[in-house]
Amino acid sequence: MSDRMTQSRPLSSNGIDFIDEANLHGLLERPAAEPQAVRDAIAKSLSKEALSVEETAVLLSATSPELIEEIYAAARQLKRDVYGNRIVLFAPLYIGNDCINDCAYCAFKRSNRDVERRTLDLAEVRRQVEALENKGHKRLIVVFGEHPRYTPELMAEYIRTVYDVRVGHGEIRRVNVNAAPMDHEGYAIIKEARIGTFQVFQETYHHETYRRLHDPRTPKGDYLWRLDGLSRAMESGLDDVGIGALFGLYDWRFEVLGLVSHALFLQNHYGAGSHTISFPRLRPACGVDLKTGYEVDDDDFKRLIAILRLAVPYTGLICTARESAEIRRTVMEFGVSQIDAGSRIELGGYTEAGDAQAMEREQFELGDIRPLDSVMRELMVDGYLPSFCTACYRLGRTGEHFMEFSIPGFIKRFCTPNALTTLEEYLVDYASPETRAAGEKLIQDEVDALPDGADKADLERRLKQIRETDSRDLYI
Ligand code: SF4
Repeated sequence: MSDRMTQSRPLSSNGIDFIDEANLHGLLERPAAEPQAVRDAIAKSLSKEALSVEETAVLLSATSPELIEEIYAAARQLKRDVYGNRIVLFAPLYIGNDCINDCAYCAFKRSNRDVERRTLDLAEVRRQVEALENKGHKRLIVVFGEHPRYTPELMAEYIRTVYDVRVGHGEIRRVNVNAAPMDHEGYAIIKEARIGTFQVFQETYHHETYRRLHDPRTPKGDYLWRLDGLSRAMESGLDDVGIGALFGLYDWRFEVLGLVSHALFLQNHYGAGSHTISFPRLRPACGVDLKTGYEVDDDDFKRLIAILRLAVPYTGLICTARESAEIRRTVMEFGVSQIDAGSRIELGGYTEAGDAQAMEREQFELGDIRPLDSVMRELMVDGYLPSFCTACYRLGRTGEHFMEFSIPGFIKRFCTPNALTTLEEYLVDYASPETRAAGEKLIQDEVDALPDGADKADLERRLKQIRETDSRDLYI
């Protein structure tokens, strides 16, 4: 194991274990809150203010069908107010599944002899990215196991390679990373490669569960090192970070309070909460036979997303293709703002995978492997505006600067027009005829709904340019 993984590792200047378990359990053990308390929390959220951990616990305590429906209705309203009808799209790209950790729920755990170990070389990564660009993708998240061979320097080289691949009008404009937490120096190296969001999932915020599922002799066995991971990232200049928990390991209500505690901790110490929150649910995986008794059913999964939506109004909520198409379709209504589509997570999957998933080559089984074009069409038929926008990150509107802009009016002026130009690019360059027809109608409806004026005229000019010329990447 390299020095980076063995020597005592310096934490951030705020390197404390801020997960107060006694307090969180205490909040969850309180009797169900009065309906008025639930409505007060909802009202605060609808005024676009983030909720405290206590207020989030009030929403979690609501069990009457009437109050739960009020929570869903408010989440739908807030989703429309803050995100409009936009759904941001991306695709995952697994680069290497060597791992020295032994996480009980993961196919890539080091003790699993049944999984195929592979690390794509740069030429193989190029081929994967070409395949993704030829489908119309513009935003990727690259994924690595935790292993001494995946140094920050090597990851940076992979990220630069992804950005360097151009096929026709195809290019990747934002590369996010899901990898093991690093020290400050490592993050600085990754930052130089112009990454977007750096994701580190705590998996579970419950200390005992964490100890039981993560071998303490492995780097990931260090709860505090991981919890502090994104504080170090922010101190190293990476101000778009993503947190997450693997739902099904422990009580979902506790994990929701853990996520909100984490988002508030980052907000209070670094001026910006997490850019995104992910809430993957346990899925079948090769070589994994884990029954926790905390598996989350569909009703509770919908509730946790609606409550997260209300708790962190300005944080992107990501629902990945772990979930079925049906569940994803439902949760986009009241919370989710980002999804992946056309995803294959087998190593080399975008050029080698067949119709069926090869479980021995992936971290877990996916629930939705429909092609991007089908997902695009369904989104538009459902009234959503698919977006491949990357403007904020490329114009430096990130972290607390992003927060400044997430004020009323910003969406209509920037997010919707940028989503429309990225959609037009997709329709002209990659869409099937049916999807193009649905998309062109949606674009016309969206443009017609915009107030007349210079912004609208400018947008119509950019859309015409994309349809009639080779101009691409026209964002504001
Ligand atoms: S969850 Fe991540 S760190 Fe754990 S075994 Fe899997 S790839 Fe390794």
